[in-house]
Amino acid sequence: MPADATSIVIPQIFINRYGDRRRIELTLHEARTWGYGPGDETEMIFAQAKTTGTSPSRFCLRMIFDFEKVRRDKTSNSYRACQRLLKDADFHSTHLSAADAYGVLVPVHYGMWFMDTGIWAGKVLLSITQWCGISWHELSFTNANTEANRILVGRTVEALHDYGIVLGDLESTTDNRQFVFDLNAPGLTRADVLNGQTPCYIVGFSDAEANHKCQRKLPILPHGSFVPFEKFGCREIACVSSILGFMKKSKTSTSASTALQWYDEYSKRYPTMSNLDVLMAQRAKLYPNMPPVYSQEAPVSFTSNELYAEAIFPKTPDEDSFPETPDDSDDEEQTVEDANAVVAHSLAPEPLEPAPTRYSARIRRTPE
Ligand SMILES: [Zn+2]
Repeated sequence: MPADATSIVIPQIFINRYGDRRRIELTLHEARTWGYGPGDETEMIFAQAKTTGTSPSRFCLRMIFDFEKVRRDKTSNSYRACQRLLKDADFHSTHLSAADAYGVLVPVHYGMWFMDTGIWAGKVLLSITQWCGISWHELSFTNANTEANRILVGRTVEALHDYGIVLGDLESTTDNRQFVFDLNAPGLTRADVLNGQTPCYIVGFSDAEANHKCQRKLPILPHGSFVPFEKFGCREIACVSSILGFMKKSKTSTSASTALQWYDEYSKRYPTMSNLDVLMAQRAKLYPNMPPVYSQEAPVSFTSNELYAEAIFPKTPDEDSFPETPDDSDDEEQTVEDANAVVAHSLAPEPLEPAPTRYSARIRRTPE
């Protein structure tokens, strides 16, 4: 909390309306009566809260009104919403604590709280997290729906998978609500917002799973044609590519079939290379004009201009804050190989700063 903050205000309360799941604003009275009753809402009521003072901190409050009543009706949507909030908090605490501590890639989670409002709305269950901004679902209806921003969403999802997490429930464009853009980030200009420079976060981990070892063979970039997920190598990454419109028929500088063929040949030539290394080399070689997933790093270079030349990865010091990612295979050598590959890609921490997590800190979060 900033030192000069004397109070917290809640300027707006929202719900994502049924149907198109667009965000609408509620009055305080509507919020109180909307949450529970026959035909109660399936969507969560949420609000932005901010501290007063010269540099306000912003928080996202997700709320269950009249919790004591809700907990007695396990068939209600509000009860299910309550379960989702608890699962989300549990997942943050169990699997995202390293990423969450930095407030990059995913919001900081400040825990679950009760607020007793008496006869107004009884006990209100609150989830308090960092306010990360407006959802990509909302922005996608505006002129901010640029290719650069779609690529930014893709880079963020790829980083999450590299971190070992899948969201688990991405099926349609309304799930774009889970990608959030912080338009209040310091120093952000209008041009930055259009050019994929906004800090982007992923929220909502009630259906997420940890220990994912991503086997994608393609990046989330325009592919110009539909690619079945069996060929893509990771169902969720394929789904996000489709949701972002990257599998529509169009002319691209690198077709999906070219990229897949390159991936297979490169993996064959460098059998000890980890999947992440192959993907970084593929992006650098076949998509040189696209931003890398981890733009803080020095670029990947190659030993020659040959199509399948060996990649040279930026050298960085070790980090010791890797999340556990158990290896399902019986091949112990492969496990060591993967760990070494991770070390080779890590970012050097800033002096006197705590070590950033292995992947999340590598996406540039604020404009320079
Ligand atoms: Zn994956």
